[in-house]
Amino acid sequence: MQAKKANQATSVYLVGSGIAGLASAVYLIEDAGVRPENITLLEQYPINRHESAGHIPDHGR
Ligand SMILES: Cc1cc2nc3c(=O)[nH]c(=O)nc-3n(C[C@H](O)[C@H](O)[C@H](O)COP(=O)(O)OP(=O)(O)OC[C@H]3O[C@@H](n4cnc5c(N)ncnc54)[C@H](O)[C@@H]3O)c2cc1C
Repeated sequence: MQAKKANQATSVYLVGSGIAGLASAVYLIEDAGVRPENITLLEQYPINRHESAGHIPDHGR
């Protein structure tokens, strides 16, 4: 069954930029048709571009 596509104005706020948040963003874009610019990832910690998503050694994880 074809998934219902999101309205062009649909905005999504995802809490957390771990693998679950990033995977959700991909599915929202590719399967639900949400526009990438309408997706906001809310992350409590600064993101170091040299670290992989979901693993932030500076915070004891
Ligand atoms: C030490 C360690 C080593 C690991 N090694 C591996 C490995 O080698 N291979 C593997 O497959 N898995 C590994 N894992 C497991 C893997 O890290 C997790 O399964 C995966 O990160 C879970 O993804 P997640 O998106 O659900 O959660 P997380 O990666 O924990 O992401 C959640 C994000 O949400 C943010 N967040 C939480 N609450 C809020 C809030 N209120 N507001 C804003 N942001 C918020 C957090 O800061 C975090 O960035 C390891 C885990 C640990 C702890």
